[in-house]
Amino acid sequence: GAEARPLRVAVVGAGPAGVYTSDILLRQLAQRGEALGLGIDATIDLYEKLPVPFGLVRYGVAPDHPSIKFIQGALARTLDNPKIRLFCDVEVGKDVSLDELRERYDAVVFATGAVDDRPLRIPGHDLKHVYGAAHFVEWYDGYPTGPRTWPLTDETVAVIGGGNVAMDVARELVRNADDLLGTDIPQNVYDGIKANACRELHLFVRRDVAHAKFSVQELRELEKLPGVQLVVNEDDFDLSDATLEVAADDKLTRQMVEELFVIRDMAEDMEYDGGTDFNGQPATKKYVLHFNSNPVEVLGDADGAVRGIRVERTETSPEGSMTGTGETYDVPVQAVYHAIGYRPAAVNGVAYDEKGTRLLNESGRIEAEPETDGAPLVTVPYVYATGWAKRGPVGLIGSTKSDALETVNNILDDWAASGKNGRVAPKAGDEAETIAYLQGKGLQPIGREGWDRVVAYEHAQGEKVGRDHIKLVEPDQIRRVARG
Ligand code: FAD
Repeated sequence: GAEARPLRVAVVGAGPAGVYTSDILLRQLAQRGEALGLGIDATIDLYEKLPVPFGLVRYGVAPDHPSIKFIQGALARTLDNPKIRLFCDVEVGKDVSLDELRERYDAVVFATGAVDDRPLRIPGHDLKHVYGAAHFVEWYDGYPTGPRTWPLTDETVAVIGGGNVAMDVARELVRNADDLLGTDIPQNVYDGIKANACRELHLFVRRDVAHAKFSVQELRELEKLPGVQLVVNEDDFDLSDATLEVAADDKLTRQMVEELFVIRDMAEDMEYDGGTDFNGQPATKKYVLHFNSNPVEVLGDADGAVRGIRVERTETSPEGSMTGTGETYDVPVQAVYHAIGYRPAAVNGVAYDEKGTRLLNESGRIEAEPETDGAPLVTVPYVYATGWAKRGPVGLIGSTKSDALETVNNILDDWAASGKNGRVAPKAGDEAETIAYLQGKGLQPIGREGWDRVVAYEHAQGEKVGRDHIKLVEPDQIRRVARG
């Protein structure tokens, strides 16, 4: 009878949030399931639209952050659990609808993350050579449907943004291609970076040092960049009494301020204009950090090409709110990259919140507009969100894990309250039935073994040329390798 079968859950998106949520759900059920009257048995079908799993861990994290990519190994081990079944190359909302999943599973969890850039809304945003960071990241991380070439033809570039994505993008824009050979970058990306014309980069951070979103580790990574002269003017980082006061109270801020002093002093010691990098080696590139600097316009020429950026100086209050001073300055640049946030992946059948930063949800319970105008939002029964899809595009991989617990606990509570011992969708079948069901729709899902084949192939490709690993990029080639 219904009591006997395991609970069946669909998780949509095999990024870190989807994998952690699957794992945590099985663990919580094992611990609390009996007490809640749910039993302890469940199976999870993890759907992923790309032919390979792990979302932004593979397609967002910068190639020169290889240590974080070890997380891929840890995530893959989580999928060793036979109760979690991976179905890659299946897009929910297109190949399979939410309604179909709701009929087949006791709960559906969206872990669809974020993909797109939030648009830059200043005059000149539509000029040639104004780029969104997400698109550039897709290029250097070899996203299956991303661009394969990138026009790195500009000598002077601006990067707008104060978060870790801005720091990543700026770093890749001044990196030497050969310093990336120890990473998994594909050949086309190596070739593109090798030909990069960029010699001067300006990073514009709206707030002051005390409220910058990147970390001191990221500043220290900058210091290690070979051949790059770092420049930070005291004017720009505005060490007002207020900043110093905030710094005195907060260890992380104090470290940032101290590190910026180190950078400034080093620059002075090393003949500021002579151009050496942080290790005293000759510099061929210059990286200028601007704080309290809010770009207000991209300046164009008659042909619609970028010729500069207009920046307003700002003040940041000790609480972190920013105000413009009305004073502007222009910096000549030929390209602008903006890293001012991500947008959630669109899923047919699920609404966004009014700001468009996350799927509409309350503590992970997906909500929808009510049928009568003006009535409060209604919860969609047994449909949830987790990770960036739930919270919006903020936080590192680790925060995705802690956040998954809230969603999981809500699923268990809702089931316990259902009076049906959680078993609400009688159509669910076993693994063979799911595969048959997907094949019946003309789909060829790629499972866990497929991912192992891709990893093995990427290692083998690397070994041929004395590298550890070379990432596969073309989706059809990934599919061929994965299907064996
Ligand atoms: P995602 O990683 O985006 O995963 C979502 C998954 O859902 C994707 O695989 C996607 O293909 C899939 N999906 C989407 N829609 C569908 C659908 N309709 N059907 C099926 N599947 C679907 N964090 C760190 O800790 N360290 C770093 O160095 C770091 N660098 C970053 C660099 C960049 C450029 C970015 C953008 C983020 C970085 N982060 C980093 C943050 C980290 O990537 C996120 O915290 C984390 O990936 C969020 O996990 P998620 O599973 O919610 O989303």
